[in-house]
Amino acid sequence: MFKKSTVIFNLKFIYAFVFVSLACWALFAYITTTEIIKNQQAYAHIINLTGKQRMLSQKIALMANQHYESRNKEDKKHLFTLYSLMQSDHASIISVYTKSEATRAVYFSGRKQLDKKVKHYFKLVNKYLVDESLASLYQVESYAFSLLPLLDEAVTVFENESREKTDFLLSRELFILAGIIITLILESIFIVIPAIRYTKMNQDKLKQLVRERTRELEELSVTDQLTNIYNRRKIDETLSFEIERASRSKESFGVIMVDIDKFKNINDTYGHLTGDNILKNIAGILFDNVRKSDVLGRWGGEEFLIVDSESDIEKIAEFAEKMRKAIEHHDFHEVGKMTCSFGVTRYIKDDTASSLVIRADKALYMAKESGRNCVKEIISG
Ligand code: GH3
Ligand code: MG
Ligand code: MG
Repeated sequence: MFKKSTVIFNLKFIYAFVFVSLACWALFAYITTTEIIKNQQAYAHIINLTGKQRMLSQKIALMANQHYESRNKEDKKHLFTLYSLMQSDHASIISVYTKSEATRAVYFSGRKQLDKKVKHYFKLVNKYLVDESLASLYQVESYAFSLLPLLDEAVTVFENESREKTDFLLSRELFILAGIIITLILESIFIVIPAIRYTKMNQDKLKQLVRERTRELEELSVTDQLTNIYNRRKIDETLSFEIERASRSKESFGVIMVDIDKFKNINDTYGHLTGDNILKNIAGILFDNVRKSDVLGRWGGEEFLIVDSESDIEKIAEFAEKMRKAIEHHDFHEVGKMTCSFGVTRYIKDDTASSLVIRADKALYMAKESGRNCVKEIISG
């Protein structure tokens, strides 16, 4: 079973855990996506730059040739511009983009040593710019030609590197996606399902509690506070119900009115509290004697009314007699003996609750008139 405090603690703990882990995953995903974008931008730039180097190396050779032919100052200026551009681009490739193993292998180590070769090419171009000789032109053109495959290779290296890095980052994104899915699955297993169960359990408990409270309130609304037997309201309800039933089924039922004899004397002699206790005791004796099918209630003051399921007036009177004796033989301690008078009647056709009660009351009056502590019955209206 769940213990409320434990469940709440556990739920809070798991909620916090899931929230933090989802936030971590989201941050991780954001960083990775940003990395992918940056990586793509960086490699697009370097691939572009290296391709431009390839083009510049050829253009320089062509421009040197053009200048050699024309000896035109503009051509030389143009040649110098191309030469400067290629130099600055090379410097930025070296400073920023050659941090990886593969690019270092192309630019600095091994057979290729592209950095050295490009710089040598710059020397040759510079030499031509100084002496403008055919020999220097020849050297520039031949070297430009040999530089071509190496620069091509550099482009390929950058392209491969870019692809590898992007693939790695994409696989990391897949990993993040899997992490988020697993977290959500765990969340449903450990939070959502138990929370739904817990809420349902609480609702069931609450419904049960409401049912119990309603029953208690219903009981309370028909219970006499002093004697704890039914009150006048319940007796009225029972009478209406029984009259309705009897008029339909053509059967009858009994009504017994009980009044404590000389009760005023008890209050006067022993006080109101003792009077209350006597009331409770007599209610208890009556209660112990009525059957389950009978309804006993306090009619008011020191009077009780019993709706008896029995329809035979003799039997109703016998039943009343039994209760009378039970009270008569009871020992009320400090007060001693107590007696009650009983008025008995039964339902007859067209009776209303009030005609029935009036008849029972009349029978009770007869009992009082006959010296009390006895049962009197009236059969017909
Ligand atoms: P009788 O034999 O003619 O019925 O005499 P009685 O004294 O019983 O009748 P009466 O109607 O003169 O007095 C009824 C008394 O019952 C008066 C009242 O103070 C008392 N009584 C009514 N309700 C209560 C109650 O809740 N507690 C107490 N202690 N006394 C009550
Ligand atoms: Mg009375
Ligand atoms: Mg009385």
